[in-house]
Amino acid sequence: MTSQRTRDRLISRLINLGINDERVLQVMRAVPRHCFLDEAMGTRSYEDTALPIGYGQTISQPIVVASMTQWLLADTQQQPMNKVLEIGTGSGYQTAILSLLVSSLYTVERIEPLMNKAQSILTQLELDNITFDVSDGHWGWPSMAPFDGIISAAAPEKLPEELISQLRTGGRLVMPIGEEEQLLYGFVKTSTGIKKTCLGEVLFVPMKQGIEA
Ligand code: SAH
Repeated sequence: MTSQRTRDRLISRLINLGINDERVLQVMRAVPRHCFLDEAMGTRSYEDTALPIGYGQTISQPIVVASMTQWLLADTQQQPMNKVLEIGTGSGYQTAILSLLVSSLYTVERIEPLMNKAQSILTQLELDNITFDVSDGHWGWPSMAPFDGIISAAAPEKLPEELISQLRTGGRLVMPIGEEEQLLYGFVKTSTGIKKTCLGEVLFVPMKQGIEA
């Protein structure tokens, strides 16, 4: 069930759902999603669904990962996307995809055992442009700012302004916002303010406060 044919079927689905950035399709074809899941979940690895990863969290749905990544990279002709912050490492799946598309990736996760597991898988996959921290994503990563892009897999109730301040001018932030009803938003920081785009309804885990040992 982890054969190339099974994986290609997922890629065809992403294309049918509107993913057309070859860079994104290529890395999604290459990253072995089954490596980020427990063996019991192995047969479902290439279904386009979120799946449990323990600690009440889920690995993101492939179409959501693809859409967010495509949006983040949409303007690279004008605005390079070299240094990116990811909030909510979780299984490390989205981390792997991003690390193959940007020069330096910074990723934060509030649940330490999840971060440790993700870090070990990503190291085994020889992805070595990633810096990890157990931290609360509401704070961003001030000492590493400014970022070209920020992507969050956890939904805060409202936009953490701190994250906008850690983007460079021209930088892009993509994140779900809301409690029971969530919407995915893209923000572009311009020299005069913020351009906000709604990218549709989504369902993510909440962005919680503080860290969990
Ligand atoms: N892209 C990940 C998604 C994991 S689910 C994957 O595909 O596996 C979202 C993750 O965000 C969870 O692991 C959760 O613990 C984490 N999270 C929630 N609130 C957070 C916060 N304030 N700071 C950092 N991570 C957070």
